[in-house]
Amino acid sequence: MTAELIDGKAVAAKVRQEVAAKVAGGPAPGLATVLVGEDPASEVYVRSKRRACVAAGMAGFHRRLPGTATQQQVDEELARLAEDPAVSGILLQLPLPGHLDADALIDRIPVHKDVDGLTPGNAGRLAQGRDGLRPCTPAGIERLLDEYAVPLSGAKAVVVGRSVLVGRPMAHLLLTRDATVTLCHSRTKDLAAETRTADILIVAAGIPGLIGREHVRPGATVIDVGIHRSRAGLHGDVRFPEVREIAGLLTPVPGGVGPMTIAMLLANTLHAARRQEP
Ligand code: NAD
Repeated sequence: MTAELIDGKAVAAKVRQEVAAKVAGGPAPGLATVLVGEDPASEVYVRSKRRACVAAGMAGFHRRLPGTATQQQVDEELARLAEDPAVSGILLQLPLPGHLDADALIDRIPVHKDVDGLTPGNAGRLAQGRDGLRPCTPAGIERLLDEYAVPLSGAKAVVVGRSVLVGRPMAHLLLTRDATVTLCHSRTKDLAAETRTADILIVAAGIPGLIGREHVRPGATVIDVGIHRSRAGLHGDVRFPEVREIAGLLTPVPGGVGPMTIAMLLANTLHAARRQEP
């Protein structure tokens, strides 16, 4: 069996068009991006987010602070954006320089402007199965699964990785959709024994090539969240050529999950804006 590939670029383009059409029908949402320091990868990500936001007809508010900024300076900037009625969503680009307390700063973002879904308020709502703003990468994966009509209710889903950004919220999203969920991590004893039970396998471990054919049940849907840059190009956590021979559906890297993250950020910003309208 050769897996059908999931076209994340096409689905992301569809989401972006949907968002742009809805933006055109009302007041322009505003997305504030906050970048602290000079991390080159973060600069690239923030630039892409700002461009996508403007392309969707939204207003961009970019705040750039030096790598030497104090906790209080970042805190005050976030407080100003929290108060600003033109700002519907606030994105604090992570990771922050090591001297800053990221959790304390995330706590400064009001739950209704938390378009990354990272505040305890939104994470708690998700854990309780209540509505709220969802982290963009897991929300993008949910949309990919729906676009490809992958049944979630009653499915056996295995998530590899328990980060606050990807693995944990992914597990909760799948649970909310009535999947039976196993969450694996670095202390899991027999990873392959767990992953082979999966109808849906979502891999977000950040380890290049961690998952091979021995980890995959024939016909399973495999979603690769990992992004690793080498001289040969971008790769994921999944050994693509061998897993392609056994999976039913598979996301490529690049062109799978990656494009969905920004698309869902736009969708979240629109959602946040419309809920804030009087
Ligand atoms: P992280 O480092 O915060 O978390 C990694 C998780 O994997 C941890 O919970 C750890 O317990 C688990 N893990 C590590 N080794 C393991 C092993 N051998 N077996 C099982 N579990 C193991 O990473 P993250 O922020 O969740 O990101 C994961 C990957 O996804 C990275 O490659 C990152 O670049 C990528 N990523 C991609 C997107 C996207 O838009 N495509 C978004 C976010 C992250």
